[in-house]
Amino acid sequence: MHLVLTKISDFCITMNQRQLFLQHVAQTSPAPLALEIVKAEGCTLWDVNGKAYLDLISGISVCNMGHRHPKVVAAIKEQSDKYLHLLVYGEYVETPQVAYAKFLSDHLPASLNCVYFTNSGAEATEGAMKLAKRVSGRTEIVAFQHSYHGSTQGALSVMGDEYWRNAFRPLLPGIRHLTYNDLTQLNQITKSTACVIAETVQAEKGVNIPLKGWLQALRNRCNETGTLLILDEIQAGFGRTGTLWAFDQYGIVPDILLLGKALGGGMPLGAFIASHSLMATLTRDPVLGHITTFGGHPVCCAAGLAGMKALVEEKRVDEVFHKTGLFKTLLKNRLIKDVRSAGLLIAVEFESFDINKKIIDRCIENGLITDWFLFAPECMRIAPPLVISEEEIRTACDIIIRACEG
Ligand code: PLP
Repeated sequence: MHLVLTKISDFCITMNQRQLFLQHVAQTSPAPLALEIVKAEGCTLWDVNGKAYLDLISGISVCNMGHRHPKVVAAIKEQSDKYLHLLVYGEYVETPQVAYAKFLSDHLPASLNCVYFTNSGAEATEGAMKLAKRVSGRTEIVAFQHSYHGSTQGALSVMGDEYWRNAFRPLLPGIRHLTYNDLTQLNQITKSTACVIAETVQAEKGVNIPLKGWLQALRNRCNETGTLLILDEIQAGFGRTGTLWAFDQYGIVPDILLLGKALGGGMPLGAFIASHSLMATLTRDPVLGHITTFGGHPVCCAAGLAGMKALVEEKRVDEVFHKTGLFKTLLKNRLIKDVRSAGLLIAVEFESFDINKKIIDRCIENGLITDWFLFAPECMRIAPPLVISEEEIRTACDIIIRACEG
């Protein structure tokens, strides 16, 4: 079934999909997973040979409601029957966009009531930084070590890791990186700082959780200096950490919120969200201060809205801490040094990347998809769909523990 016939003059060359993938699809690493997945549903993926895999990473925190949630699929079909792309973002009144922006606003603090839809998380980061510069009239930006906000040049400029950044210099000027959770450095945020950008929970550092007092102090310092606070919940939002928004656990509200990943219910969608009055600055001097052709695509908005409605109606967020507890109870082995969690964003720490990689490879062989973190390669990523069942959690942990035992 996975054989493709390519006719070149009189010769018939047979190539399988994997070879075609390696040859014609631009690669991001020398060692892609290269599994050929033909179907996905709930927490399960099936490859071309019919082998089933339990998905413990949700396409990196995207499929919070599982793969192909029936309501998401139905919304995609329904919207495709009406219209696809009509015009660049922000001109026509597109019902799926309006309905989703309203639903998001209804589930956010009152000051976050205006949604700018983008295609991706990185674009949300870019838009938010531009908005902060426009609103404040300042140019300096403060970000944090070990943060990840996307791979475009602006987002890369605020990324908190020199190894990943350096090859692409020159990047944006005026960026200052502080140490996450360090109260003593907050005085480096001044009246020249346009914005501070932070992940509410640092995911790629292997789940680095903010100290409650630190996020409060960060908010206070931004208030004192007239600096906008941007919180990136592209990975931590949509119930992943046990509350609908991770910042709900810290008693603060950002000026701008970044969303992506689960926002689209499995379709590409990002957003930066602020108050209506802040967002209005992008409409003048210059007009069209931020534009996108496809941002807020109607099919993606319809899918995302259906996914978020299902998340709320099925009360999946309420189950998160119980499921996290089950993972933590079952993940005990002499090779496991630590298990850190922010709800169902879990890092299982091993002694080294080599040990982690060996265990991850054995898990994949045994039908369990997991991964490591960009800035914490010694940690195994566990970020399953929030709909994962207790039985699936037991199966997953059993495979991990057996992999640890060799
Ligand atoms: N911010 C965070 C916290 C992320 O985890 C990611 C992606 O992994 C992004 C931003 C960038 O999102 P995208 O890959 O959709 O551009």
